[in-house]
Amino acid sequence: MYAVRRYAVRHARFFERLYNSFEPVMVFLDPIFRSMGYNRLERPVAAVERAVKGLLFDCQMCGQCVLSSTGMSCPMNCPKNLRNGPCGGVRQNGHCEVKPLMKCVWIDAWEGAARMKGGDKIQTVQPPVDRSLEGSSSWLRVAREMAEQKRATREAERHALAEAFSEARAEEPAAVPLAREPDAARPHREANESTTVIETAEAPQGKV
Ligand code: SF4
Repeated sequence: MYAVRRYAVRHARFFERLYNSFEPVMVFLDPIFRSMGYNRLERPVAAVERAVKGLLFDCQMCGQCVLSSTGMSCPMNCPKNLRNGPCGGVRQNGHCEVKPLMKCVWIDAWEGAARMKGGDKIQTVQPPVDRSLEGSSSWLRVAREMAEQKRATREAERHALAEAFSEARAEEPAAVPLAREPDAARPHREANESTTVIETAEAPQGKV
């Protein structure tokens, strides 16, 4: 609905706060989503997303939401689907050259972004629309991708710690039990172990 869409742009800061609270909840729920299966959740979640965002933003379900970078003005409502600013056909009154009764979504985007704390994200160049994602849930995609990214970062940190203490791991693996032993530490440890075995085997009976 056009009037609601314009309302959302006028209250872009409120919707930005709302989204900033909603996103961590979705990421937090990732273990539940994974146990239920993202594919199984896709249809029902996409249906809810379509209803909510359709009402508020005239969402076209492109599957790669950029509302937080476009002042809460959905760029897919541009008749040319431009994702990186207006074309050269904006009328003098700020309306669209294709739909004269509609204000250019990018003028709305600029005004909405000015009201937002993260409004400078409008300067970020967006990649071309991936049509294969059309109809899919952006919410689920963001939850899955951010959770995966967090897991990868955590894993990298644990390995960095283990690498940093490779000497300690070789002497006493229990000293750094936070991660699987890095490959680089194994030969060193195996060499030490074989030395110990040889020394033990060659030790004179009387000294044991
Ligand atoms: S950018 Fe895409 S997902 Fe976001 S509101 Fe527009 S059509 Fe919907």
